[in-house]
Amino acid sequence: MPTLGTTSNPLRVAIIGSGPAAFYAAEHLMKQAGLVVQIDMFDRLPTPYGLVRFGVAPDHQKIKTVVKVFEKLARQPNFRFYGNVEFGKHLTLADFKEHYHQILYATGAQTDRRMEIPGEDFAGSFPATEFVAWYNGHPDYRHLQFDLSTESVAVVGVGNVAIDVARILSLTPKELAVTDMADYAIEALSQSQVRQVYLLGRRGPAQAAFTNPEIKEVGELEDADALVLPEEAQLDPVSQAELAASNDPTLQKKVEILQEYAQRQPTGKSRKLYIRFLVSPVELFGDANGRVTKMRLVRNTLYKTETGTIRPKPTDQFEELEVGLVFRSVGYRGVPLPEVPFNDKWGVIWNEKGRVIDPATKQPLTGQYTSGWIKRGPSGVIGTNKPDSVETVMCMLEDAQKGATFQPAQPDLGSIDQLVRERQPQFFSFADWLALDKLEVAKGAAQGRPRVKFTSVEDMLAALGRK
Ligand code: NAP
Repeated sequence: MPTLGTTSNPLRVAIIGSGPAAFYAAEHLMKQAGLVVQIDMFDRLPTPYGLVRFGVAPDHQKIKTVVKVFEKLARQPNFRFYGNVEFGKHLTLADFKEHYHQILYATGAQTDRRMEIPGEDFAGSFPATEFVAWYNGHPDYRHLQFDLSTESVAVVGVGNVAIDVARILSLTPKELAVTDMADYAIEALSQSQVRQVYLLGRRGPAQAAFTNPEIKEVGELEDADALVLPEEAQLDPVSQAELAASNDPTLQKKVEILQEYAQRQPTGKSRKLYIRFLVSPVELFGDANGRVTKMRLVRNTLYKTETGTIRPKPTDQFEELEVGLVFRSVGYRGVPLPEVPFNDKWGVIWNEKGRVIDPATKQPLTGQYTSGWIKRGPSGVIGTNKPDSVETVMCMLEDAQKGATFQPAQPDLGSIDQLVRERQPQFFSFADWLALDKLEVAKGAAQGRPRVKFTSVEDMLAALGRK
């Protein structure tokens, strides 16, 4: 057998998922001098780029420019894209073992964490992930309905996703009209009656997870005032000590921004975006139809644990907030893949530096790897996935060199292509995506928008003249 990674025996790699972590891994594999590698990337959706298309906020187009790098990679002759092909459904792990030397799972974190409080499942209480997927035109979420005739909405959590959701709820029709948000969402949000949005942080301003550019941005919205209650902007002694000890100018700036918001008076803009601190939802209440109407909050104090983390502790003070919609934005969570060891507690694939391991023996499972949020959990920005994927690829290269790979009986390009065509005739190639992309961008240009998205698989097939 000729050496692996040469013209006569290329390293065949399957990547499951096509978001940033998937592409950064492909990039690092493809740039290895002297390595002949062939990559096939699979996505259960027809379109590539995962979170960039379905997670990044539609009014944050600059962040999406990263796809230019990904597109360049995907146009290489040793790269193929198979969209609308699902791992475990159209192709099983056994199929991949038959055709590839290595498989890398980069499926991200597709669901959310729960608050675990009574009333969480009343109608009108949603994971923020569903709202985000809906306004971004994700085919699986386009049918959801959010009652935007309500005046008050609570967004639980103070991370960047919570900020995205609160900001999107606060945009004017004019601001919405220049985004690539799904058409149905622009229409619904343009008619929105929402007047108050409450972002709810369980700890204080010094522990808020959002980043400074994001919190600054909500202070400059066209028709929404960002407000902080003065008593909640003040740091408690524990946080004061932490801030003084941290010597972190970014954190100091964040606290300053929030304290400045606390001095602001409403300026008469039609919406108010309250950023609340030191409160935790303890229960949701509903009406006779099971629709959420109210939330009970408990006031927290902060304490330092033995390990030095600052944690919230409930007091005996409660307040009630009338809300018609609740979005919990308390963190994303990975979804298990069939036959792949999953750490249910952490919501990630069991792995060591990206090598998938057997949870019982902690030994690597030959040929299987992971990167991105499904490897390390839902943290960091898009660029964080680059070093993460590089770490995994280093393991892949080391193992390939040792011959510790799957031993595929049919590693040729044609066999797997034929199998995909048999199992999922309606797959989308990268050329298909480029055609769709062109149509979306052209339609967008006519409306002064970055693109107008196709939001259903049927529409995409029809646009390509396939149905
Ligand atoms: P995150 O940054 O981890 O924030 C989660 C928030 O939920 C925190 O405020 C956390 O508070 C809170 N929380 C957790 N459990 C809670 C509970 N039981 N009750 C109340 N609050 C609770 O997660 P994320 O907002 O989902 O964002 C995921 C990652 O994507 C982050 O790294 C984020 O920066 C990134 N992202 C970036 C952008 C951007 O760059 N513009 C946009 C979107 C997302 P505690 O701190 O007290 O745990």
